[in-house]
Amino acid sequence: MKSDSETPEHSKEKKQEEVLVGIGVSPGVVIGPVLVVVAKAIQIVERNINAEDIELEISKFEEALIETRRQIQEIQEGLGVRTPKGDSGILDAHLMVLDDASFLQAVISGIHTKKKNVETIVKEAAESYANALALVEDNYIRERIADIRDVSRRIIRNLSGDTNPSKEELQHKHIIVARDLAPSETASLRKDMVIGFATDLGSPTSHTAVMARALEIPAIVGLRDITNKLTTGDEVLIDGNKGTVIIHPSPKRLEEYGRVAEARKNIVSGLTNLRDEPAETADGHRIVLSANMEQPGETDAVLKYGAQGVGLFRTEYLYLSKGAVVSEEEQSAVYNKVAAALAPRPVIIRTLDLGGDKYLSGAELPHEANPFLGCRSIRLSLLQPKHFKGQLRAILRASVHGNVKIMYPMISNAGEVVRANELLEEAKGELSAMSVPFQKDIDVGAMIEIPAAALTADVIAKHVKFFSLGTNDLIQYTIAVDRINERVAYLYEPTHPAVLKLIQLTIDAGHRNGIWVGVCGEMAADPLMTPLLLGMGVDELSVAPSVVPMIKDAVRSVRYSGAKDLAKIALSCKSAVEVLSHCRRMLNEVAPEILELV
Ligand code: PEP
Ligand code: MG
Repeated sequence: MKSDSETPEHSKEKKQEEVLVGIGVSPGVVIGPVLVVVAKAIQIVERNINAEDIELEISKFEEALIETRRQIQEIQEGLGVRTPKGDSGILDAHLMVLDDASFLQAVISGIHTKKKNVETIVKEAAESYANALALVEDNYIRERIADIRDVSRRIIRNLSGDTNPSKEELQHKHIIVARDLAPSETASLRKDMVIGFATDLGSPTSHTAVMARALEIPAIVGLRDITNKLTTGDEVLIDGNKGTVIIHPSPKRLEEYGRVAEARKNIVSGLTNLRDEPAETADGHRIVLSANMEQPGETDAVLKYGAQGVGLFRTEYLYLSKGAVVSEEEQSAVYNKVAAALAPRPVIIRTLDLGGDKYLSGAELPHEANPFLGCRSIRLSLLQPKHFKGQLRAILRASVHGNVKIMYPMISNAGEVVRANELLEEAKGELSAMSVPFQKDIDVGAMIEIPAAALTADVIAKHVKFFSLGTNDLIQYTIAVDRINERVAYLYEPTHPAVLKLIQLTIDAGHRNGIWVGVCGEMAADPLMTPLLLGMGVDELSVAPSVVPMIKDAVRSVRYSGAKDLAKIALSCKSAVEVLSHCRRMLNEVAPEILELV
C-alpha cells in the first residue's frame, strides 16, 4: 500500500487535498489507507480436467474448506457469539455444512466421475443438494438450504481466489470504501482491521449506518461517487462528526485535526464519569436511558456505557449476519444469554423487522416494487404464524433468565396487535404443554412508527404496556421521504412540525392510558433533540450504547421546566428549521460542550 508520508512535499507528485461532503452517520475521526470494495458476481468458468488433475482439484477443495471454516469462525468471534463446545452458535449451521458427509462426498465423487474443475462441481453439488432438501416437508431441514447455498458461495469464492477484501489487504488497518454495504456485510467487518467506512449511497437511518454506530466505527454515507475518486491504498481522513472525507490530507489539516481530536477526547472522557449517575434533569425529573442493540455481543458495551437496559434489540440482524433463517433453538440461545448478561435490567426484544432495506438474500420472498410499503416487519410475521410463534417462544423462554419484554414493529392498526397477542397466547400455551417455564405476564409493547398508528394510539394503547416511537420510520412515512435515499435527505427533518405533532399525540395517548412512551429511533440519539423530547414528556430514550453518556449529559444539564417551555414553543413553530434553531439555542445555553461533539 502506498503512503503519502513518503512523498516529498515539494514533489510534483504531491497529491492535492480534496474534501468530499457526505452524511456523517457514526462519529469519530480516523486516518488511514482505503480499501475500495467493489461487489463482483462470482464467475465460474466450467473446465474439463484430465484424470491426472483429479487429485489436484480435490486438494484445492480441501484447502478451500479449511479457509472457509477459518472465515466463518472469524465472523463468529466478531459477533461475540462463539459458544462453548457443544452449544449451538449462530453460524454453527454453516460450519455443519462443511462437515456434511453427503455434500463432501458428492463433490469428491463428482470430480472423479464428471472430470470438471472443482468450482463447477461444488456449484452443481450444492444445487442438487438444496433441490433435494426443498422436497422435504420439515421446516428445520428446509432451513438448511440457505446454509448450503451460502457456504457453497463462500467455498467457490475461496477456490477462485476472489476473497473480497483479500487476505493481504486485511493485514493492515483500513477504511472501507464501497458503493453501499449490505447490513450482512457490515456485520462481518473485521472490527480490528476496519477503522471506518465511506459509501456512495446511504442515509443516517439506513441499517448500515445503524450497524456502524453499533460497531463504533466512524462512517460517512451519501458521498455519491467516492468509489470513483479513490483507489485502494489512497490515504484519507474521515470525520464522522462533520460528515467529511479528506482525500490526501495536508500536514496542516492533520495538525488541525490533532488539536480538535485532543479536545474531543477530553470531553468524551469527562462523560464517562456519568456512568453510574441517573438520567435526571437538573430539577429532578428522571427518565430511563436505554441502549439499542443489533448484535448479541453488544451487552458489554451496554453495561460499559451505563445504559439502564435495552430499549430495542433488533433481532433481524441475527438473520442478516447468518444470511439465513435462524431457528427457535438458535434464537433462544442468544436471547437467554443477552437476558442473563443484563439482568435485572430490562431487555426489549423486538420481533423480526425484515423488509425495507433489510433483505435476507435467499429468503425467496416475492419482489416488491415498494418494499418500505410492502410486506415487511410485523406484516411478514403475521403471514408466517408458524415462524413468528417460534420467535415468540424463544423470547418467552428467555424471560426466565432476566427481565425480558416483547415489542412488535411497524404496527399500523390495533388489529395487528390483537392478532400478534393471540399468537403470543398460543405460543405460551405450547410452552406450558411442554412444561417449559416462562414469565406469564411478560410485557408487550408496540412501536409507533407509522402515522396511522400515532393517530390511533389511543386505541392501540389498550392492548399494550408501552409504546416506543420509531422515529426513523415515522419521519419517512410522515414526510414521504425514503430514509435511505441521499437525494432526498434534505427533506428528512426530525423537527418537521408534522412529525412533532405525531410524537406529541402518541405521548399524550400513552399517558392517558397509563402506559409509558419511549423513543428508540435515531432522533433520541441527537442531543439537540434531548430537551425537546424531554419537554414533550417521553419516559425513555434508547440510543446506541456509545451515545448513552452524551445523552445522559444533555438530560442532566437541562431543567425539566425549561424543556417543557421549549416543547411548547416548538409545537407552535411553522418550520423544521425554526424548531431546530430553538433546540440549538437551548443546548448551547445548558451544555455548550456537547455542541462540540455534534
Ligand atoms: C425506527 O424506525 O425508528 C426504528 C427504531 O426501527 P428501525 O430503524 O429498525 O426501522
Ligand atoms: Mg423502524
